Amino acid sequence: MRCALCQKTKKLCKSHIISELFYKPLYDSRHRFRSIHSSTAKVSRHQKGFKEPLLCDNCEQKLSTYEKYVGQILLKQYPKILKKRIGDIVHFGIDYKKSRLFYLSILWRMSIATHKYFQKFSIAKYNETLRNLINTNNPGNPNEFGCVVSALLIDGSFKRDWFLDPQLSRLRGDSVCWVVFGGLLYILFITFNHNPSVITQAFIQKNNSWLIAIDDARRLHFIDRRFRSAQKILNKNP
Ligand SMILES: [Zn+2]
Repeated sequence: MRCALCQKTKKLCKSHIISELFYKPLYDSRHRFRSIHSSTAKVSRHQKGFKEPLLCDNCEQKLSTYEKYVGQILLKQYPKILKKRIGDIVHFGIDYKKSRLFYLSILWRMSIATHKYFQKFSIAKYNETLRNLINTNNPGNPNEFGCVVSALLIDGSFKRDWFLDPQLSRLRGDSVCWVVFGGLLYILFITFNHNPSVITQAFIQKNNSWLIAIDDARRLHFIDRRFRSAQKILNKNP
């Protein structure tokens, strides 16, 4: 079969859409986690993060290097996040190229994935642009598919063990994808039509710096609404 990234005909791996390392906090003592389907109110159990045949071994290895790198950097920020309050910011150093390629690859994989968790999300018009950037190891410019990240506090505490499936939305006239994994909210700008602003400062910078803003999940209505509906379903299915 053809690898989605290099497009060579090769044996394909069962590739994660979002790296397995972000699923780690979800597992219980029997290595299971639950997913909640909000429209059918169905709760399912899983033993592995969502995967599908997507990449050849070479491309899988290439992307996993970025995943491991970014995962480790983010992991180091968690103790700092736990000491912060809403409105605070955590600044940290991160390699521009590796981190950008990681987020571009997440956005691209979520868009091309056929797994039902990602089924509703697609930015088909941008798939080829993203594939080209990732395949040629080109991280692009900071404002091109820029990524803003927030750590979400739920009733005052930071929880690493929740995900929300990607959604396409509008923000100040731009098209954005928002997704939650590992307790962090990522807003990925599909289009960007602004001058330098507070938003551009929150993108990964070419001087290898980035920031995580601490936010209140309850204040973000689009998150809070989905969180409440998931909580209701879970209460009925303990
Ligand atoms: Zn490949």
